[in-house]
Amino acid sequence: MINKLKLDKVLMKVEKPARYIGMEKNSYKKDLDKVDVKFAFSFPDVYEVGMSHLGLQIIYNLINNEENYACERVFSPWIDMEEEMRKEGIPLFTLENKEEVSNFDFLGFTLQYEMSYTNILNILNLSNIPFKSKDRDDKYPIIIGGGPCAYNPEPIADFFDLFVIGEGEEVILELIELYKNMKKSNYSKEAFLKEAAKIEGIYVPSFFDVSYNDDGTIKEIYPLVNDIPTVISKRMISNLDTMYTPDKLIVPFIETVHDRIAMEIFRGCTRGCRFCQAGIIYRPIREKSVDRLMDIADNLVDNTGYETISLTSLSSCDYSQLLLLTKQLMDRYEDRKVGVSLPSLRLDSFSIDVLKEIEKVRKSGLTFAPEAGSQRLRDVINKGVTEEDLINSVTYAFKEGWSRIKLYFMIGLPTETDEDVMGIKDLAYLVKDLFFNRPKEERKGNFKVTASASCFVPKPFTPFQWYGQNTIDEFMTKIYKIKDSIKDNKVSFNYHDADLSYLEAIFARGDRRLSELLIKAWEKGCKYDGWSEYFNYETWIEALEETNIDGAFYANRTRDINEVLPWDFINTGVSKEFLIKEYKNAIEGKTTEDCRLRCRACGIDDCAMRGVFN
Ligand code: SF4
Repeated sequence: MINKLKLDKVLMKVEKPARYIGMEKNSYKKDLDKVDVKFAFSFPDVYEVGMSHLGLQIIYNLINNEENYACERVFSPWIDMEEEMRKEGIPLFTLENKEEVSNFDFLGFTLQYEMSYTNILNILNLSNIPFKSKDRDDKYPIIIGGGPCAYNPEPIADFFDLFVIGEGEEVILELIELYKNMKKSNYSKEAFLKEAAKIEGIYVPSFFDVSYNDDGTIKEIYPLVNDIPTVISKRMISNLDTMYTPDKLIVPFIETVHDRIAMEIFRGCTRGCRFCQAGIIYRPIREKSVDRLMDIADNLVDNTGYETISLTSLSSCDYSQLLLLTKQLMDRYEDRKVGVSLPSLRLDSFSIDVLKEIEKVRKSGLTFAPEAGSQRLRDVINKGVTEEDLINSVTYAFKEGWSRIKLYFMIGLPTETDEDVMGIKDLAYLVKDLFFNRPKEERKGNFKVTASASCFVPKPFTPFQWYGQNTIDEFMTKIYKIKDSIKDNKVSFNYHDADLSYLEAIFARGDRRLSELLIKAWEKGCKYDGWSEYFNYETWIEALEETNIDGAFYANRTRDINEVLPWDFINTGVSKEFLIKEYKNAIEGKTTEDCRLRCRACGIDDCAMRGVFN
């Protein structure tokens, strides 16, 4: 346990000490001397971001639900706190017992975005834990990673003892139990990892090696030990109604990104947008029943005191019982003034009807994601919406009293032309015209349309995984073209940082040679790279140069279909043949309909939803 006096002194000096004190409603504090396994769970970002992540709350409660296991949280200390901790020699500690992270059996990281990787190194360093697994002996915690970035774990492979591929709540207790049992006998980390590697969904990177061709591409990924699977298949929960779901959530003392109940209504997505990694890795679609969701909502409302229930999923309007669910929730909690919110909207009147139901009074802004400015490009990316859908939805929304519209787009998508790019401006102007063409007496509120463009990052396990990202110059040319063409104060345009997207693309499609780059960047002071005020592109460029790594090789190069990809040894259930077919369809501008309408044989062989919606 760390020195409490020193900690108190430090907490007096930092902004938001509540980030570090724990003790929130519904948090656990177990006697660490009385449990068999101690698990430190880290979201490698600041407290307010990490505490808004539902996955953290699920794993935290799942482990703590077991009497003999303890799970405690650890986040990235904010810059001021880190400075004070380093000054006072305070090692990184968990929120619950203020125990040093290095004294835990496991340190698990949730890997939500690539630009958190330097924060992982910083957390290890603040915990006095060596970066590389080969430099850690048995006295250090087992370092494990899971979450969407674990689907290409290679850029951080050297730092982790193992990765969980797939849905963590399906495998984490199995892993901890194995550890508990082995710990009782003649434990060694090596022996534990050998047994763990036999569990479906567990990848131990030190048991694999990679050889390269002369041009730098991968020749082969091969195992170094016998008796372990050479293809790692993701773990998946088949029945969401019977899976463990917490009946309480930790309620922070301070404002976080999402101060509400996050209630997951289903997993997976059938729409088949070709840029979307989540749409592939979380297949197949699995819904929770309305009855089960009502039970969950009852528990969470009673145990948290929150006033909003947010219905979360990849595309909440696709939940087959959405109207029924929202009506039941609204009826049940009307007296208690608990509202319902939907984080994502589809471009159709049904979605707005649902929204109308749940936002009876408040007409806040509406957000739509056409993703591309022209129909041709929307077909390429398989975004199944048309301009007509947008016109109908926006017209309907104006009629119902909304006046502020946000439109999300991506630039740099495969086959994109200048015309597609300028289509972004055209759609924003079209929305403006739809508002002002209405009779004056029917125009409600203060109109504003905001078009927002992010820079496309090709992601593993998508049909676009082979496609090279635009260069930063190409992105900026497109961005300025749109920006310069908008000359109306009712229409605004904003865009994401192209430099940051370039780095994200390097790591998204990177291999294990990138670990040196990460160490170099961290040594040069990079951390909190996802935060624009701390992201330092020049430092990253220096780190690339000093490690002799060609960023364009990873980010901008279009890869051959036959090239061995760093993540080829992972099996998401969706076949490579399907991804290739979809890539070719994209280039030819052919769309693929939603697989609720017809199964597209994506390769998932135990898909319970196949044909259900026919
Ligand atoms: S198996 Fe068919 S229904 Fe299931 S996710 Fe794949 S394409 Fe969709």
